[in-house]
Amino acid sequence: MNHVVAVDVGGTEIKSALVDCDFNVIATINAPTPKADVTGTQTVKAIAELVAQFSKQQTVNAIGLAVPGALDEPAGISRWSGNLQWNNLPIQKLLADAINIPVAFGHDVRTAAVAEMRNGAAKSARNAIFIPVGTGIAAALIIDGQIRSAEGFAGEIGHVNVNGKYPCVCGKTGCLEAASSTLAMSKAYEGLSGNASVTTEEIYKLVTAGDPVAQQVWDDATSAMARACEMLITILAPEIIVFGGGLSNAGETFLKPIRDYLDSSLTFQRKPKLKIAHYKSKAGTIGCAMLAFDLLKVGK
Ligand SMILES: [Zn+2]
Repeated sequence: MNHVVAVDVGGTEIKSALVDCDFNVIATINAPTPKADVTGTQTVKAIAELVAQFSKQQTVNAIGLAVPGALDEPAGISRWSGNLQWNNLPIQKLLADAINIPVAFGHDVRTAAVAEMRNGAAKSARNAIFIPVGTGIAAALIIDGQIRSAEGFAGEIGHVNVNGKYPCVCGKTGCLEAASSTLAMSKAYEGLSGNASVTTEEIYKLVTAGDPVAQQVWDDATSAMARACEMLITILAPEIIVFGGGLSNAGETFLKPIRDYLDSSLTFQRKPKLKIAHYKSKAGTIGCAMLAFDLLKVGK
């Protein structure tokens, strides 16, 4: 039985998982992401160490590597990542050369969408949008059965203007990401209550417990998301919109206000189903593993 390692290089952590061919996660190991590693050398070393640890347990046949930012996916190059400080870095080749195991390569959001499209909440749809809500917000666009990215530039819905009041990391004010990301919700809750570092998970629990401040934060975040969805629906006509990431556990508490807004605001547009990711926050891991197993199928 073949096994692969799924690796997700985030701004603060490298998350890795050993996955079998039935997409069961056998083991996970996280490591801190090396800081300001402009050559990628330390990151490659850290990933090689994670793979070596899994290899003690199981022969690893391929790697699925996901990174954030602007990518040239076919060429295996990270064009730009603000968090990782990478510029035109051939990270796929650097890793493959270092570990001598085949490496599949993709964008963190789009690899997660692969899992939802092939075997998850978007399986039945030829047109769908996958939106993981985390510290940032971006979307994977599934159009006519294919994930489309316009050379890696498309899907940055975190930076559409939803008439919000908060400044965004991109330099503008009013972006979706500054209103609805998990980070934005924590900041908004702090602004209204004075309590710092309250997580989205905790805010969600406070909402269900009837806390009025948490409810206000929740209403603002979901109504901004609903406005962004309205734009996406009008332009792309998805059959399904799938939400993933840190808000997956909120389920209907997150989906219902968005659905209610769309029910009252859409007129001629096709109304999509709203769903939570089947793989929840594990979609990225499973998608990476799927791409890694694709490499093993080639030539067989
Ligand atoms: Zn922005």
